[in-house]
Amino acid sequence: MQTKILLDEGEMPKRWYNIQADLSTPLDPPLHPATGKPVTPDDLRQIFPMELIRQEMSTERYIDIPTEVRDILTLWRPSPLYRARRLEAALKTPAKIYYKWEGVSPPGSHKPNSAIPQAYYNREAGIERLATETGAGQWGSSLAFATSLFDMECTIYMVRASYEQKPYRKVMMQVYGAECIPSPSPRTQSGRAILERDPDTPGSLGIAISEAVEDAVSHENTNYSLGSVLNHVCLHQTVIGQEAREQLAAVEAYPDVVIGCVGGGTNFAGLSFPFAGDKLTGKHPETEIVAVEPAACPSLTKGLYAYDFGDVAGLTPLLRMFTLGHDFVPPSIHAGGLRYHGMSPLVSRLVQDGVVRPVAYHQNDVFSAAVQFARTEGIIVAPEAAHAVKAAIDEALRCRKTGEAKTILFSCSGHGNFDLSSYEAYFAGSLVDYEYPAELIKESLSRLPVTG
Ligand SMILES: *Cc1c(COP(=O)(O)O)cnc(C)c1O
Repeated sequence: MQTKILLDEGEMPKRWYNIQADLSTPLDPPLHPATGKPVTPDDLRQIFPMELIRQEMSTERYIDIPTEVRDILTLWRPSPLYRARRLEAALKTPAKIYYKWEGVSPPGSHKPNSAIPQAYYNREAGIERLATETGAGQWGSSLAFATSLFDMECTIYMVRASYEQKPYRKVMMQVYGAECIPSPSPRTQSGRAILERDPDTPGSLGIAISEAVEDAVSHENTNYSLGSVLNHVCLHQTVIGQEAREQLAAVEAYPDVVIGCVGGGTNFAGLSFPFAGDKLTGKHPETEIVAVEPAACPSLTKGLYAYDFGDVAGLTPLLRMFTLGHDFVPPSIHAGGLRYHGMSPLVSRLVQDGVVRPVAYHQNDVFSAAVQFARTEGIIVAPEAAHAVKAAIDEALRCRKTGEAKTILFSCSGHGNFDLSSYEAYFAGSLVDYEYPAELIKESLSRLPVTG
């Protein structure tokens, strides 16, 4: 009866898997916001180091992980894969539920898997400071952790709603030596413009991205760093799925269903892309791959597959992705990391191609699942990860009805030890299940940039 499946340090993947190699046609290129033409590596050099630009555009199937990056990742990797036996018993399901546990990283989520290589490549390129945004604070604390290891400075624009809901993440960034500023802030033009229009705005990831990009563009020694959405971030996260596939192989299993929550899409990408690759190349064509989003910010289930900006101010390249419109400000639900108007272009493409199926849940159902998980498996998950827990439980309950003994694998992307105020709100009955604001979405989609 094996519950925890572990790999040795030496078994940590030596390469990242690039799903761009296995798409039937290339991904639509990002477009320059001013010219509408495909962006060139030169356009991106103002904010990213060359190696990350190369990875962003690469169609090589595997990219080597630098030794210095692997050495740091082994502080917590390979991460454990668990069989959720107590949850299975509570659900009386014939399904086997496995979860890949990314909460073991020092900052407590999957995000350092990309923060470490991003800081590394920037330092190699001679960059001294990174500017970034953070939603719930997970990315900010991960980049702060990474920059501290590489002796770099770090400035973090934190979405105001989370800055107020999650004060301890901010302290964590401070411990790692980074500067954390509530966004929108008076520091940047984009921040000032929004504060003038709406001084009480809860902020959004789109606004914070505008501020961080502006900061990077206007400082010579500073680059911008993004914790989600982009292809190179999905790439760095594929250590998760590669490990999980090996761990399952060790118990002679392969998942029928792979589940992850999606904000910008990267923990989901990290777990699912190696399996999606097996699906695309015909090795395992039947695998069901499920992306879970909040009903309050439903880009995959209610958005459009279109070119849109990654930020509110329209500073970033246009990405072809599922979007709710770049100026859509989602309600301030407690899964702050899932409050993004867009979605990774790679995840979007897989949804568009029918390889990935999206579902959306309301936050009270999500927290109820998280509490059941905590009371059976012990882990108090982040509100984001709770979306994946909910979907896994639903799938296991379907199996109870049909009698199928499916193997379910889900991404447990981080712990919720700093998110207890969200659980408190859930127990107090004060969490609102925002019905998806159809009118708002229609309105912001009417302002999509015109391309082509
Ligand atoms: C940031 C975060 C997410 C959402 O980001 P993705 O890029 O979609 O993975 C999910 N879970 C946790 C724990 C996070 O910190």
